[in-house]
Amino acid sequence: VIDIGVNLTNKRFAKDLDGVLARAAEAGVDRVVITGTSVGASRAAAAMADDKAQYATAGVHPHDAKSCDGATIDTLTELASRARVVAIGECGLDFDRDFSPRPVQERWFEAQLELAAKLQLPVFLHERAAHERFVAILRQHRDALKGAVIHCYTGTRDELKAYLDLDLHVGITGWICDERRGTHLLEDVKLIGDDRLMIETDAPYLFPRTMRPRPKGGRNEPAFLTYVRDTVAEARGVTPEHVADVTTKTAAAFFSL
Ligand SMILES: [Zn+2]
Repeated sequence: VIDIGVNLTNKRFAKDLDGVLARAAEAGVDRVVITGTSVGASRAAAAMADDKAQYATAGVHPHDAKSCDGATIDTLTELASRARVVAIGECGLDFDRDFSPRPVQERWFEAQLELAAKLQLPVFLHERAAHERFVAILRQHRDALKGAVIHCYTGTRDELKAYLDLDLHVGITGWICDERRGTHLLEDVKLIGDDRLMIETDAPYLFPRTMRPRPKGGRNEPAFLTYVRDTVAEARGVTPEHVADVTTKTAAAFFSL
């Protein structure tokens, strides 16, 4: 199984990274895509991907858009030329927390979409509380993009339909295992075709709340992707093996792994 989004450069993994990857492999999660969220984190993710024979994205999260400057796109271009850097992102819009001013988020979202189109790499997208602007911007670039995944999808059914209309891939996290706020996904996940569905942990965040006992300190890790796989399988009325099989094929094709 492929975990398409894991923040392995987060300091919460600094002490036991090899153990985390070994436990993931033991659980059948043999490939991970390490998310790049800033220029520095993307550099670290690319180095880690080389070191651990995994994969990475290169991009700047909307929270960090305010730190972008004239050198950002050049640096991302250079990182993206590495064999194990397989997508641009994560990039997008986050109007939930507004850690960067909205016009700044929009500017660097577009710049990264243009970069992904130019390099013909797929793009790894983040959207929170910004659906309308996000769709308006993405629609202008969609035809030029090789592929696009809306990662950690948590929105409404209508939002999901809009994304599927734009022919996006959809990443489902442990949000679907959350009995407090994710139950709508148990229905909506059925709308996503096998060839558009991927799964991810977004670790160390969002540990799957179906897990018993819960992980120490609440830290999520790629080995726990099996809980996402199982919940998605139950919701779609198929076996976990089927979900593992189709999401692996879809992710391998999407990222050209
Ligand atoms: Zn995200």
